[in-house]
Amino acid sequence: MSSYVSDLLAEVKAKNPAEPEFHQAVEEVAESLSLVFEKHPEYRAAKVLERIIEPERVITFRVPWVDEQGEININRGFRIEMNSAIGPYKGGLRFHPSVNLGILKFLAFEQVFKNSLTTLPMGGGKGGSDFDPKGKSDLKIMRFCQAFMGELFRHIGPNTDVPAGDIGVGGREIGYLFGQYKKLRNEFTGVLTGKGLNWGGSLIRPEATGYGAVYFAAEMLSTRNETLEGKVCLVSGSGNVAQYTVEKILSLGGKVVTLSDSNGYIYDEEGIDTEKLHFVMELKNVRRGRMKEYVAKYKNAVYTEINPKDDFNPLWNHKAQCAFPSATQNEINGKDAQNLLKNGVYVVSEGANMPTTLDGVKLFLDKKILYGPGKAANAGGVAVSGLEMTQNSMRLPWTREEVDERLRMIMKDIHQTCVTMADRFGTPGNYVNGANIGGFLKVADAMMDQGVV
Ligand code: NAP
Repeated sequence: MSSYVSDLLAEVKAKNPAEPEFHQAVEEVAESLSLVFEKHPEYRAAKVLERIIEPERVITFRVPWVDEQGEININRGFRIEMNSAIGPYKGGLRFHPSVNLGILKFLAFEQVFKNSLTTLPMGGGKGGSDFDPKGKSDLKIMRFCQAFMGELFRHIGPNTDVPAGDIGVGGREIGYLFGQYKKLRNEFTGVLTGKGLNWGGSLIRPEATGYGAVYFAAEMLSTRNETLEGKVCLVSGSGNVAQYTVEKILSLGGKVVTLSDSNGYIYDEEGIDTEKLHFVMELKNVRRGRMKEYVAKYKNAVYTEINPKDDFNPLWNHKAQCAFPSATQNEINGKDAQNLLKNGVYVVSEGANMPTTLDGVKLFLDKKILYGPGKAANAGGVAVSGLEMTQNSMRLPWTREEVDERLRMIMKDIHQTCVTMADRFGTPGNYVNGANIGGFLKVADAMMDQGVV
C-alpha cells in the first residue's frame, strides 16, 4: 500500500470510526486511484478523492409509526446524498435491521462510481432504515413506508434526489412510498424509480440488475472467446437480483445449482430450470416464504442451514465455473474465495454490492480470473432506473425490447470502459482498477470544472 493510501485511510478511519464497510470501500477505490494520481497529480492537488469521500449531505431522522395493535414503533431513517457532480443524487433505499450509517455510506460511495460508469447523468446517494420488513403484514409495511416518507419527502425530488429499491424495498414498498410522496407534495413526478408499470415504471426495471450482471459475465467471457452455454453457476440470495440473474443465465444456456436466503441455501444438482424458478418467484414474492420450502417440493435438492458462526459459506464450495453473489456485502470471504477457485470457478460477476472481502478480491486478482466487481457488474439496475427517469421526463414509455437493448449496450460499454482503463493504467484484465478509474475520471473532471463547492 502506498503512503498516500495509508495516510488517507488513517484519516478516514479516524474521522469515521466504527464504519468498517465504508473503510473497506474507500480502501479498494484509493488503491486503484493511486495509479491515476501518479500520472495526474492535479486530481490529488485538488483533493478530489478526499472531497468524494465526504458526503455532501447526511440526513438522519426518526420514523415513529403505529402498528395495527396500536403499539408505537420507532425506527431510524437515513439518506446519504454523497455526490451530485454529474446529476441528481440517485441510489436505492434499504430496509434491513443491519442498516446503519457506515453501511449506507459505503453503498452511497460505491454508487457514485457505478452511476458514472453507466454514462447516464446521475450522482450518487443511498438511504434506508433499520426497519425489518420480514414477516410483517402489508398494513405494517404501508404504515412504516408512509411514516418514512413523511420526513424523506422534504429532501428528495425529480431534479434533486431520486431513490429506488434495494434489499427489503421492492415494488410493494416503492408503491407505498410513491403514494405518500404524491399526497404530501400534491404532484405526480418521477421521484422514485422501480415504480409500477401503470404509474410511471419502466419495463425491464425489475429484471435489470440480474440481467445486467449476466450480460457483464457474458462480456467478460467473450474476451476469452467463450459463452455461458453449458456453464455451471452458483447464485446466492433469492430476492430481486438473484431471481433475474437465474432467468438470464437460463436463457443463455447456463445451469444454476444454488440459491439462498439468510437462513440457508439449496443445492439442486439437476439445475434450477424455468419451472423451478417460477416456484421460487412465487415463494419469495407472493407467499414471502423461506428457501427451505424448495426441498419439500423438489426432493432431489438438498437444503443446508447457514451457520453465521462458521468461517466460510458452504454455498461457495461446489464445483462450478461461474459465481453470481446476489445477496449482501461480504458474503464471500478469503476462505470462500479459495473454495471457489479450488472448485474451478473462474468467472465472478457481482450482483450484490461489495459481496467480496478485500482478501477475497486479492485472491481473484492474483489468479487473474474474470472478476467483475459490483460497481460495474450490477450497474444495470441503476442504468434502467436512469432510463425510467428519461421516460418519465418524456412522458413516453419504451417497449421491453428497446429497454433491454439499451441495457445490453450499457453493460457492453461499462465492460469496455473497464477493459480500456485497466489497460491504460498498466493493469490489463483488472476490472477492479478499470471500474474504479473509469467511474472516478468522469466525476473528478466534473468536480474540477465546477470549482470547490
Ligand atoms: P432483496 O430482493 O431484498 O433480496 C435480498 C436477498 O439476499 C434475500 O434472499 C435475502 O435473504 C438475502 N440476504 C439479505 N441480507 C442477507 C444477509 N445479511 N445474509 C444472508 N443473506 C442475506 O434484495 P436485492 O434487491 O435482490 O439486493 C441484493 C443485493 O444486490 C444487495 O447487495 C443490493 O445492494 C444489490 N443490488 C441491488 C440492486 C437492485 O436493483 N435491487 C441494484 C444493485 C445492487 P432474506 O430474505 O433471508 O433476508
